[in-house]
Amino acid sequence: MAVYTLPDLPYDYSALEPAMTGEIMQLHHDKHHAAYVKGANDTLEQLAEAGESASPTATVGLEKTLAFNLSGHVLHSIFWQNLSPDGGDRPDGELAAAISEYFGSFEAFSKRLSTATTGVQGSGWGVLGYEPLSGRLIIEQLYDHHGNVGVGSTPLLVFDAWEHAYYLQYRNVRPDYVARLWDLVNWPDVARRFADARAGTPSLPNR
Ligand code: MN
Repeated sequence: MAVYTLPDLPYDYSALEPAMTGEIMQLHHDKHHAAYVKGANDTLEQLAEAGESASPTATVGLEKTLAFNLSGHVLHSIFWQNLSPDGGDRPDGELAAAISEYFGSFEAFSKRLSTATTGVQGSGWGVLGYEPLSGRLIIEQLYDHHGNVGVGSTPLLVFDAWEHAYYLQYRNVRPDYVARLWDLVNWPDVARRFADARAGTPSLPNR
């Protein structure tokens, strides 16, 4: 039985137009995200089988494959909820105060997250996260789906920098795509994730 399932988008495929076309959203959700869900489920089964092997190396490659696919599933599930047809503008309340405290201003923060996202070499994500050891917000640059972030950080706002997220519409101009993402950010969702992470109960999407 599958452990993970593909969540529905919280809006229609075309709801984020013109910033993101329905064609991109349908492919991104139905093909790419679905592949990570299947990959995570398949790899769990393979790990269960490999775990019965006497070889200590039988599971090593599979663990990396699980990390890639499971993280891809988690990040896309958050990404869909981070965006909204009614998004944009700026956060308020405690999230706004924390952004000012840790990055100086909203402008400085948005510039840094944009730079982290556009500067990903190859495929990855720009991430605003909550780092629990220091209790602060942190910007991280995630390679593929599972590399280059601190253990324990909770993603609050994630920007997909994989070419599949924008190439059909923005071609090679990743900065234009990232600039438009800001018009879609669902700040109440990000603020809810921030509050939950600080309370020690990070809100992840459904499985
Ligand atoms: Mn993606």
